[in-house]
Amino acid sequence: MSEAAPITRSADVLIIGGGMAACWAAIMAAQAGADVLLVDKGFVGTSGVTATGGPNHWWVAPEPGRREAAIEERYARSFGLAERDWMARIIDETWRALPQLAGYYPFAGDGKGGTFYSGVRGPEYMRALRRFAQYAGVTILDHHPALELLLHADGSVAGAAGYARLKQQAWTVRAGAVVIATGGCAFRSGLIGSHGNSGDGLLMAAEVGAVLSGMEFSVSYSLSPAWNSTRTLPYFAARFFDTEGRELDVPPPMSGEAAHLRALARALEAGPVLADLSDAPDALKQGLRRIQPASLAPFEHKRIDLFRDRFPVRLFGEGTVRGTGGVQIVGDGCETSVANLYAAGDSATRELVAGATSGGGAQNAAWALTSGRIAGAAAAAHARRTGRRGDTPVLAAGTVGLRPASTARLPDVREGLPIIQAATIGYDAALWRSAGKLERHRDAVEAVWRTIADHGRAEGLAAVALREHAAMAACAGWIVAAALARDESRGMHMRIDRPGTDPAQQSRLLVAGLDHVWTRPERPAAQEIAA
Ligand SMILES: Cc1cc2nc3c(=O)[nH]c(=O)nc-3n(C[C@H](O)[C@H](O)[C@H](O)COP(=O)(O)OP(=O)(O)OC[C@H]3O[C@@H](n4cnc5c(N)ncnc54)[C@H](O)[C@@H]3O)c2cc1C
Repeated sequence: MSEAAPITRSADVLIIGGGMAACWAAIMAAQAGADVLLVDKGFVGTSGVTATGGPNHWWVAPEPGRREAAIEERYARSFGLAERDWMARIIDETWRALPQLAGYYPFAGDGKGGTFYSGVRGPEYMRALRRFAQYAGVTILDHHPALELLLHADGSVAGAAGYARLKQQAWTVRAGAVVIATGGCAFRSGLIGSHGNSGDGLLMAAEVGAVLSGMEFSVSYSLSPAWNSTRTLPYFAARFFDTEGRELDVPPPMSGEAAHLRALARALEAGPVLADLSDAPDALKQGLRRIQPASLAPFEHKRIDLFRDRFPVRLFGEGTVRGTGGVQIVGDGCETSVANLYAAGDSATRELVAGATSGGGAQNAAWALTSGRIAGAAAAAHARRTGRRGDTPVLAAGTVGLRPASTARLPDVREGLPIIQAATIGYDAALWRSAGKLERHRDAVEAVWRTIADHGRAEGLAAVALREHAAMAACAGWIVAAALARDESRGMHMRIDRPGTDPAQQSRLLVAGLDHVWTRPERPAAQEIAA
């Protein structure tokens, strides 16, 4: 780290992250009168999966019966783990919030004389949120990755510390409340926009005692051209071929996500798979440029006609980005189990609205917006009650990669990454889970973790990179532990040795711990209660 004195700041509310959840949280906290600081690893507007995507929000008009029907339809797909009240909350909040962006975002018409709010283009959306946040009075610190949380002596969160990349200086922020909105963990799969999504917030939260939930529901992939991750809209109309021109038997995604993914993964393991979109409906051929211009760019670059030529595809692992695992939410204000700490967006569990299936395609965006807004407002109210306590001594809570348990050195993190990826987004580990395989992955990931925990220490930018690898190793450990503990198949969690869904396990599963990972059902099974 540089020799310059650390940058020290204080705020009522500190928001860690710079995607849609973080920005909505910052806006709400500032509108509630709090002094708000937002620190992002990248540049707010371009970092995170919101910026490169085009989030379609869950958008249901408050007309008689419509919302109830939408909730019942999604609840039925949640495998009994979602909560109808939370679903109603995100529909309602999304409906109210998006029109507030009208002064910043160029919403299009809906073709019926109204405004089309639900689907937004990521880059313009994030630019709008940045301007909205600044207008509300939020101080944004770009390129300020957070490395660790700070604690008061009573165990409550006191702020965070990190490293300012461009100034090459350490920073410390003391705050009355902290919101973690660092996105999900995509394990460096190449998924569009996800390079900085390494699960840092989950590690920081776990280090201060927070618990995670739903980590076993992290089996999500998006199909893209093999050379560039894009959004997935065009592929519902695809047929697939091998390089000899033989058509592959790949069921369409609508017929069942698991069968579709497994067929594609098997084919990809055998060799290149080519997609053919020549049979796509005319509406898609004509409308794609307007809806998802970025999906066409990689093809134009290579002079490939998306709707005429066959091209190789790949499945990009999405980890907890479109999986549902994250920090457990314990209150209506998106509180975590740790005092002064809130979580929002993909870094919080989305089981409350999506259960055991992905919330992608509408719910995740509505969740990121709503949980951000709720967390920001609740954090501001809390900070107003408790004050910043800026003059009391605090403890730095970071462990692995910052304060090694044994002799310090800079481990070669490149060695560990393939092991972490194999355990999490590797097709075999994710789509054909079994106790034996999971145990082998658990041991391998544990060895990676031990190396970093025992010896890892770095400074400056190298410390940021080391902490990212530590966070990915931690997330891998939690995913594998939760997948082992959930001794059944449910939603995206698919065990070939336990193919059925067990009614006795209809409970969310908590996982936590660093050196000693533990799991337990959030609600004990009915038999245990009876006993
Ligand atoms: C290809 C794709 C398409 C999608 N389409 C849809 C859709 O149509 N509908 C839908 O509902 N959902 C969709 N999703 C999911 C949706 O985009 C996400 O749920 C949502 O954008 C998450 O927002 P977020 O703010 O939680 O995370 P992100 O937008 O990922 O933001 C995380 C932020 O945290 C910052 N950060 C990370 N670590 C640190 C650190 N240590 N310190 C400081 N900052 C840090 C990052 O720089 C980033 O700015 C899609 C996702 C993908 C990948």
